[in-house]
Amino acid sequence: PSLPYPIRLEGPVCKGFGRGGKDLGCPTANLPDDSESVEAMRGKVDTGVYYGYAKVFPGEGSTMREEDAAVLPMVMSLGWNPYYKNERLTAEIHILHTFPSDFYGHQMKALVLGYIRPQLDYVSREALIEDIDMDKQVGLNCLAREGYTRFAQDEFFDVKP
Ligand code: ADP
Ligand code: MG
Repeated sequence: PSLPYPIRLEGPVCKGFGRGGKDLGCPTANLPDDSESVEAMRGKVDTGVYYGYAKVFPGEGSTMREEDAAVLPMVMSLGWNPYYKNERLTAEIHILHTFPSDFYGHQMKALVLGYIRPQLDYVSREALIEDIDMDKQVGLNCLAREGYTRFAQDEFFDVKP
């Protein structure tokens, strides 16, 4: 059984577990482990690294800049969360964009469009960082292909969650 692309994800950006993320130069906005859209992937898709588009929505009375509340390329790591005895799926989204500040609590939507690679165990921090850089390039190349750029205009992103 598998889920067809695009896979639609949405939910509030929540606190992660501080592993990976900013200290690797790659902050990942986490969706709640128990959110419906993340749970829908259980048993239907492989863990690993995916690419697609994401959008962060401004909150009530938020002064978020237009360029930050846009549909942007992303790479997502989907894995079993060791903090919950590997019983929960965690979706962590790195948006390929420089934000002026954190956006915890904001609603986020993502369209997952394809798979890059399985999750690996890394022996060194350097090897991990190298692979993350490669993932970002692969993701951007995949999104630039004909038939994929149109997803940035998908009406899924027009509706605030
Ligand atoms: P956590 O363990 O709480 O997820 P991270 O080190 O992964 O911590 O940082 C994630 C947070 O960084 C996000 O929730 C978001 O608020 C912020 N952030 C800033 N820039 C980005 C970006 N380009 N992509 C994803 N998150 C970002
Ligand atoms: Mg994170």
